[in-house]
Amino acid sequence: MVVGEMSEHTDVVVIGSGPAGYVAAIRAGQLGKMVTLVEKDPVGLGGLCLHHGCIPSKALIHTANVFWDCTHSKDQGINVSLATLDMQKTQEFKRSVIEKLTNGIKALLDKAGVDIVYGRAEFVSSTELHIEQEHDTMGLTADKIIIATGGKENTLPTIPFDGKTVLRSTEILDLETIPSSLAIAGSGYIAMEMAHTFQKFGSKVTIIHRSPTILSNMDAKVGELMQRQLENFGVTFWKNTEIITGEKNARGIDLHLETKEGVKETVPFEKVLVAVGRSPQTELLGLKNTQAKIDERGYIIINEKCQTSDPHILAIGDITNGPALAHRAMYMGKIAAEVCVGLPSAFDAQVVPGVIYSDPEMAWVGMQEPDAVKSGRSFISGTFPYSASGRSLGANRPIGFVKVLADPNSHLILGGLIVGAHASDMIAELGLAIEMGARLEDVSGTIHPHPTYNEAILEACESALKKCVHLPGGK
Ligand code: FAD
Repeated sequence: MVVGEMSEHTDVVVIGSGPAGYVAAIRAGQLGKMVTLVEKDPVGLGGLCLHHGCIPSKALIHTANVFWDCTHSKDQGINVSLATLDMQKTQEFKRSVIEKLTNGIKALLDKAGVDIVYGRAEFVSSTELHIEQEHDTMGLTADKIIIATGGKENTLPTIPFDGKTVLRSTEILDLETIPSSLAIAGSGYIAMEMAHTFQKFGSKVTIIHRSPTILSNMDAKVGELMQRQLENFGVTFWKNTEIITGEKNARGIDLHLETKEGVKETVPFEKVLVAVGRSPQTELLGLKNTQAKIDERGYIIINEKCQTSDPHILAIGDITNGPALAHRAMYMGKIAAEVCVGLPSAFDAQVVPGVIYSDPEMAWVGMQEPDAVKSGRSFISGTFPYSASGRSLGANRPIGFVKVLADPNSHLILGGLIVGAHASDMIAELGLAIEMGARLEDVSGTIHPHPTYNEAILEACESALKKCVHLPGGK
């Protein structure tokens, strides 16, 4: 604390108002604690997810899909002679969604009695924070402090961000004109989502990645399918490729590329999106003034109760090691708040689902076939193709499949992979099945409405049991 600085005391301080932080603050408030939420961005209530991540990206993905469908539905009898994109209007739509949700979070925080302080928090000791505000500073002391400060984008040193030509995801989601050509450096889910979106908006997209395959931490078949689909939309790939340098000019940037095989080429682009992952951001938190510890990659070390090695401090969300996803962050927010009031909560979820909002969507949960094969775990599996689903065909979305993995003896469901339309909405059924200890027979014995995409989950379970009536031979 700065000498002479006014300081206030509260039960719980939450640092960061992303999905981890705001959920923790609301829950702690609901449980009767006096809570202060500190957010460094004066317009950032809701964090990365709401302002620069999940929500704006999904609003743009939706718009890109509608725009694409307008001009690609002739075989369903829809002829649109002139479909144009007013990107400024699209951005207005996106901002209106963000505004509604920000106001919603603010109202929920108010209702839970949470005080909001805008400023950057730094630890002075385990129970004391110094807050740097726009025109002032203040001190805060608390019995418990929950760190929910998220992460930051990784950079490519050869082409540093400039916000105009070399962009982060934050900036690409704010573009008011569509670049004629767009390079995307990266091969993870954000790169894939943005490739689909901007190709559909009309950019000529090129994905440049160091690895031999895209989505390299997933089932190889998923990466192959994703690449094929993107190529069908017109996206070009440079695999095993380094961006050696970039030279900016009036038209954009010339990227000097070199493949592992030694092929060198210079390719011009209007803009480049760098999407090469994110890292935790702990440098400016003053953690050295506490007993909280970080691991070798910079993540704050926690136990299953989200407690750090400092008895006064908890940490949640992307600042901790694990899938950097908003739904995991929110789950942890509730645990941390409940632990602060002495409830016996802990991270006991068996699985964290993952989704890529590509076309088609891809979603997975629990054990995947490559993991099972690698670990020698025995399993049975069943697959049902979208091309055999009445709902998928009727909606002209025939590409995809549902695959389930189960224990060969007990038939307990171990994992699932869904590739296809509405995969993002359907995956929770398999997550619930795993959490509830459901067997293949439990899902196949549950009447699913017809015709729906979810029927494909039932059919995949029946296929694993070799009794699927909609597949020749039952599987
Ligand atoms: P954040 O949301 O990053 O929030 C941290 C907050 O802390 C920020 O508001 C920051 O300003 C504040 N802060 C930082 N330091 C301080 C400090 N010292 N003092 C005060 N405040 C501070 N996840 C999904 O699950 N689904 C998706 O579809 C999805 N799409 C994404 C798309 C993109 C383009 C990106 C970039 C991410 C996406 N994510 C998605 C990931 C998701 O956004 C993050 O996992 C999630 O936001 C993490 O939440 P968090 O609360 O841990 O951190």
